[in-house]
Amino acid sequence: MKEIANESALALGPEQRHSPLNSKASIPNTSSGQVEVFDAVVIGAGFAGLYALHRLRDQMGLSARVFDVASDVGGTWYWNRYPGARCDIESIHYSYSFSAELQQEWTWSERFSAQPEILRYLNHVADRFDLRKDIQFNTRITSLVWNEKNKFWEVGTNDGIIARGKYIIAGTGNLSVAKAPEFKGVENFKGEVYLTGNWPHEGVDFTGKRVGVIGAGASGIQAITEIAKEAAHLTVFQRTPNYATPIGNAPMDTESTRQTKDHYAEIRTKSRNSFLGVPYDQVLPSALAVSAEERRRVYAERYVQGGFRLFIDSFADLLFNKEANETAAEFVRAKIRERVKDPKVADMLTPKDYPYGTKRPPLETNYYETYNRDNVTLVDIKSTPIEMITNQGIRTTSGEYELDAIVLAIGFDAITGPLLQMGIVGRNGLKLEDKWANGPLTYLGIASHGFPNLFFITGPQSPSVLYNMPLAIEDHVDFATDAIRYLRDHDLDTIEPTLEAETQWVAHAYDLSQQTLMPGTDSWYMGANIPGKPRVCMLYLGGAPAYRKICADVEANGYEGFTLDRTVAKSIATTT
Ligand code: NAP
Repeated sequence: MKEIANESALALGPEQRHSPLNSKASIPNTSSGQVEVFDAVVIGAGFAGLYALHRLRDQMGLSARVFDVASDVGGTWYWNRYPGARCDIESIHYSYSFSAELQQEWTWSERFSAQPEILRYLNHVADRFDLRKDIQFNTRITSLVWNEKNKFWEVGTNDGIIARGKYIIAGTGNLSVAKAPEFKGVENFKGEVYLTGNWPHEGVDFTGKRVGVIGAGASGIQAITEIAKEAAHLTVFQRTPNYATPIGNAPMDTESTRQTKDHYAEIRTKSRNSFLGVPYDQVLPSALAVSAEERRRVYAERYVQGGFRLFIDSFADLLFNKEANETAAEFVRAKIRERVKDPKVADMLTPKDYPYGTKRPPLETNYYETYNRDNVTLVDIKSTPIEMITNQGIRTTSGEYELDAIVLAIGFDAITGPLLQMGIVGRNGLKLEDKWANGPLTYLGIASHGFPNLFFITGPQSPSVLYNMPLAIEDHVDFATDAIRYLRDHDLDTIEPTLEAETQWVAHAYDLSQQTLMPGTDSWYMGANIPGKPRVCMLYLGGAPAYRKICADVEANGYEGFTLDRTVAKSIATTT
């Protein structure tokens, strides 16, 4: 489910996309006034929700309804339509594995697909498995309240309760709540304002315009490269430079597509047995165990191969050892200096004060060369911060930049944000936002004590964004739906983690994070990009294979660490 800073003035819905951004999105509520009853309710119609619906309905024979605030399927790929939006895991890997037929019939045109192709794929999946008839679009879920007496969840919008479900699957995504802009005066700007995460469906023509982009993370970097080709002038307002490396995109050729299709099962197994969920297999133990020459060779090779190979498939100690990390960081810095002609601009683009990979490394095509264009200016807003947005443009402490359009690429309230805005209230009136006031508390990143029968798909303290999302999603949906099946097979009502198991899991995830370089950097992995958000690592950093083994053992041991209860056996349709 996509939420755009939902209480801010920047709550642009697809219905009202152009600036000035001075009014709230009005999200139609399709409630007919009747409370509908389902075995399971799924929130979100992206990769997670579509698969969850297929599994619950078609493979388990349960009644299920998906709700999404968008007017169509796609999740993150529905909303992020900004120029240059592209996946940075190879599409043959960033795709569903649950259906052999689907894998065989779908053919990707590029190694790393652009947003329109991924959205087409998700539409194809929705049609192929006849999913739309059980999805209610244009519906923002704002309350999920556990009914302890009757053991079901009441699902509501601002207009009241619309559904009941015994089980909730939260497929709300990790990057689906836009960060609210912190700039004074944005409402006074006379030009156009766009959010990368809620881009107009009909596109934007920047021809002849003076455009400012704030933010140089993964979204900004992709958008900047494309907007520069069109705008009369592009000014980039960058606070922290990133270690961006080439994505290595190319058209898919027939032979590699055939090879992939012939070996899909093995490829998926290999993916699931690798740290990041992609079948890279060249990682060497330590950057410090080889000569400087060998290191350079490895880095240069991975840099050209593209994808996340430099990050995850060069040396295994980059995220753990500062000295090892510095060798990779220095390699990337040298590449930036090589690619950007003006040494002053190159210096501004060079990250110096945090280790490589501790902020999510963006992937790019000709990003650095963009700064060699005459129509592009880089402004360092760390040394000269933005004072305000005026009616003419952006004013920093060093001057005012007149603009026709501003693009905000300022990121997301990641991982916990989408869950915390659904008004989740568990047993004994416990609000999720209160329970997580000092940071998320979960067992396996999939459930939380006090919130029975509620499953977070790729939730906090799971590998989530550090595990190829479609596979991470399938694993979590499988875990959740297997648990539901187990409850039903054993005539049980609820599943809920014990406090003890949760406490141990949180400590384990924390200990793992402390062994890495992550906690020292201000990143959205740490919640550090949102003012006031608790600063804790949101991820399980033990890698996908270790995590998958733990989940498999939990399941094999009859859901160890969970309490499974039988208390009522009423039909929820007849209770109030
Ligand atoms: P992001 O990585 O959080 O980057 C946000 C940018 O905005 C940063 O440069 C940040 O600067 C800047 N910013 C935020 N608030 C600011 C403020 N008040 N003043 C000045 N600058 C500010 O967000 P994102 O680029 O949208 O990417 C988020 C994640 O989405 C990525 O890391 C990735 O996981 C995912 N994503 C994936 C793809 C893909 O698959 N290809 C594409 C796009 C995004 P600081 O660094 O100084 O905070």
